Amino acid sequence: MYDIVIIGGGPGGYASALYAHNYGLKVALVEQDRVGGTCLIRGCIPAKAWIESGGVFSTVANAETFGVISSPPEFAWPKALERKTKVVEGLVKGLTGTLKARDVDIINGRGRVAGPGKVEVTAEDGTTTQLEAGAIILATGSAPSSIPGYDIDGDRIVSSDHALDWDEQPGSVAVIGGGVIGCEFASFLGEVGTKVHLFEMEDQLVPGMEPEAAKILQRAFRKRKIDVHVGVAVGAPDVTDSGVVVNYGGDSVVVDVVLVAVGRRPVTDDIGLESVGVASDRGYIVVDSATMKTSADGVYAVGDIVAGTPQLAHVAFAEAIAAVTNIATGEVAAVDYNAIPMVVYTHPEIGWVGRTEAVAAAEGLDFETTEHGMRGVGRAIIQGTIDGTVKIVSEVDGPIVGATVVGHGAGEMIHELMYAVGWEALPEEAASFIHAHPTISEAVGETLLASAGRPLH
Ligand code: FAD
Repeated sequence: MYDIVIIGGGPGGYASALYAHNYGLKVALVEQDRVGGTCLIRGCIPAKAWIESGGVFSTVANAETFGVISSPPEFAWPKALERKTKVVEGLVKGLTGTLKARDVDIINGRGRVAGPGKVEVTAEDGTTTQLEAGAIILATGSAPSSIPGYDIDGDRIVSSDHALDWDEQPGSVAVIGGGVIGCEFASFLGEVGTKVHLFEMEDQLVPGMEPEAAKILQRAFRKRKIDVHVGVAVGAPDVTDSGVVVNYGGDSVVVDVVLVAVGRRPVTDDIGLESVGVASDRGYIVVDSATMKTSADGVYAVGDIVAGTPQLAHVAFAEAIAAVTNIATGEVAAVDYNAIPMVVYTHPEIGWVGRTEAVAAAEGLDFETTEHGMRGVGRAIIQGTIDGTVKIVSEVDGPIVGATVVGHGAGEMIHELMYAVGWEALPEEAASFIHAHPTISEAVGETLLASAGRPLH
């Protein structure tokens, strides 16, 4: 008998297993593949490994600006693929070791809930095992979705799963979907010389992000000769032997391959939800967001399958902590969904946290915004990364409720504003701390000072 049986070994599942060790709980982690999930094997980690290689290529290609003369670099795709794979394998191995060191039983197979406190595991050879559980955590994650006409065949029409393992560099790609995943691929591919056509149906890249940030990104993409089409819905494609014709708005473009990045769907078919009465909404599991409890006694859900919460690895980690805390102690360790940092790992990088201006307006807040561009920031000029900005949204005579950073290292810098948003700091309080000079983070300090009504530079 286990204290917890977890179905799914991605960030939600493996973090639940690791965290349960703090309470001395006996845990089984059921995973049909290797542990690590989308994030380690087909998501965050491999994608960022590719992006890092693209960044290095770009730095070398632009080295002359910094007084470094080298021969024009060549992007050795197979070598970058090899490095990406090595990074992934290293992390999967490390995670497997850590889980074992924390006495987690990793059980290989397909898990499904088979009744209250029961999980049935079917191994690859068809044999089944029954596990008894004090509590069950569902963490089966998500898979790429598509749109009508774009059937993923893994060859001419692919998802991110395939693109991360391309063994040669495509000459031209149409990326359908200008959300985070689509923009990250477009940024990297464009950087290393693939011709990219990026299509987004809504009127800005990364819908939901501050429009100023989207404009800076779009400008950077155009400079890189990426064809950006916003407010454009693509029609059904024509797949030929030599490529794919993507039709849009009476026009068309021919590419080697189409990468569909239009979002992800929950993986909750056939995991036994009905056997215990777990309520779901279009496949997503409905939970009490303070505890991650589902509608079925003793069954919790975390990660990408949860209805209405962002599909991010760090959200899955936080939800895992909330679920395990509740199972172990009965206490509530609710996730603060208002202070979740979001990062787009494009060049330039973008991070945001809390409310955008549009969300603050939709919520009827009495708010003001303050911005400070990177153009006058010494270190940004030194690094040649002046295309960026910091924007802070704060309530009038009240706390900071949201912030966006665009620029080099934005994905790191956003965390200081995460504390400001999470702790509901007043601009005056946050502005009382000083930033080292010369740093890119000084732009945050300048914005805070301006937000407190006493700008410096
Ligand atoms: P998953 O990671 O999907 O894991 C679910 C696991 O459950 C899988 O291993 C699967 O094999 C297993 N499973 C499913 N059904 C069963 C079953 N019946 N029995 C046994 N095992 C089962 N997020 C970020 O925070 N930052 C990023 O930079 C980022 N980049 C991304 C880039 C890409 C290209 C993609 C696709 C995603 C990215 N994400 C990123 C999202 C992130 O990967 C997910 O939010 C995260 O992996 C969700 O974790 P999860 O545990 O809920 O699900």
